[in-house]
Amino acid sequence: MRFDLITIFPEFFAGPLDHGILRRARETGLVEVHVQDLRVFTKDRHRSVDDRPFGGGEGMVLKPEPLFEAVESLLGHSLGSAEQPAVLAPKTAIVLMSAAGNLFRQETARRYAELDRIVFLCGRYEGVDERVVEYLATEEISVGDYVLSGGELPAMLVIDTVTRLIPGALGNEASSKNESFSEVRYLDARGEDGAGPAPTGDASRIEASALLDFPHYTRPADFRGWKVPDVLIGGNHAEVANWRRTAALEKTQRNRPDLLLR
Ligand code: SAH
Repeated sequence: MRFDLITIFPEFFAGPLDHGILRRARETGLVEVHVQDLRVFTKDRHRSVDDRPFGGGEGMVLKPEPLFEAVESLLGHSLGSAEQPAVLAPKTAIVLMSAAGNLFRQETARRYAELDRIVFLCGRYEGVDERVVEYLATEEISVGDYVLSGGELPAMLVIDTVTRLIPGALGNEASSKNESFSEVRYLDARGEDGAGPAPTGDASRIEASALLDFPHYTRPADFRGWKVPDVLIGGNHAEVANWRRTAALEKTQRNRPDLLLR
């Protein structure tokens, strides 16, 4: 998987790519990250990437030319024009980070993890010229219902989330299967919690919506008088599974009731 980031602040990514799972995935060649300075694709003396909005109003807007040219240079071919629109290689996405985009979710990350290449366009100021949305980006993506000052952090969130879903990125393969927002789980009556589709006709299994993760505890069992639930120490696997399922459901009800209604 190759990620390209197009930004006016290339130094921004010096830290976030260099730790933990992401660092290891880069070192082992599982992912490759390329940061592209947008200003390289300007032609004027001031290297300007932005301009005033047509129709008036506050703020500046990122111009279309440098963004189109940056992507064309990365992909190695023209992206065409109104007369001759270009076709993109399969398994390639050009993702515009935008507060006005579609919400990025775990299911979006699962879809992205199947791709070969994602080019991220990081907006700044008031955003980008809408022709970038319509004719350059294949998707317009928001990381949440709030407004940040740039697309760099949002793109980093997406890269981090997608990378840990690529087979081999996590130490323990199982660990991305059974966590918050993992695919619909089927909980069986014996209290065993398995990911994946239920065998047809198995009435002992009930379908559950995507739940949040269950609470985790580690040593010490007694910390300042706050104790770990007894059942987790007892060593009865079925009881532990049962407790975790109930606790995950309670937590989802408390923190994200909307997930249970979807
Ligand atoms: N005028 C825009 C906000 C611009 S913020 C609006 O009202 O929607 C500047 C840039 O930050 C955007 O172009 C986008 O790239 C990025 N950004 C801000 N909030 C974001 C979010 N929630 N998700 C993804 N990108 C965001």
